[in-house]
Amino acid sequence: MRVLMVEDEKYLAKAVAEILKKNNYSVDVIHDGLDGLNYALSGIYDLIILDIMLPTMDGMTVLQTLRQEGIATPVILLTAKGQTADKVKGLDLGADDYLAKPFHTEELLARLRALQRRKPELCNAGVITFGDLEFSPHLLVIKTETGETELKLKEAQLLELLITNQNRVVSKSVIIEKIWGFDTEAEDNHVEIQASRLRKRLAQADSRVRINTIRGVGYTIAEQEEGNRDV
Ligand code: CA
Repeated sequence: MRVLMVEDEKYLAKAVAEILKKNNYSVDVIHDGLDGLNYALSGIYDLIILDIMLPTMDGMTVLQTLRQEGIATPVILLTAKGQTADKVKGLDLGADDYLAKPFHTEELLARLRALQRRKPELCNAGVITFGDLEFSPHLLVIKTETGETELKLKEAQLLELLITNQNRVVSKSVIIEKIWGFDTEAEDNHVEIQASRLRKRLAQADSRVRINTIRGVGYTIAEQEEGNRDV
């Protein structure tokens, strides 16, 4: 789950980002509106937390532009206390929720979870099932009827990405953007290492789910049929 936070109050942005990271979200923090818009337009984010009063472009214009450009990523607007007009305008422009500042981070986390429940395609509010696998992204645990194992964060993020894109090939460049973000030195071999670790975890959990390499392209996820197990 990759979150973009656009907030110019640097201390607040940093504090919130740290709490989100502790709760297994990947977070990119941007401090002005125009940069925030450009990051959001990439379409790689699962959720956007957007302040309204921002330098270079205000949050309402960022939101409006995103929706006009067909980016449907759920947006939580951060409003100043008591600005009811902002809330109404924001919801009209396509915000999914709003939160009045100052807020308690527990409330923000609860709102994020609620948004994930409302958007089942984000699906990691609870347990994701795929094949014989039960996957709890927030606990970093995979289970089958006969096995259970813990995942490291990047392994879990890769698994989630492959399951949510289960009918297509996920390219290494998409995996890098989703898991490491834009400002990264990560290369294809970093993805290969995570894929190899994830395969080991799946074997440890005694799962029939397989990560298939599509040479020169990326990966797909599939469940191997019963009675056709690897030897
Ligand atoms: Ca602000």
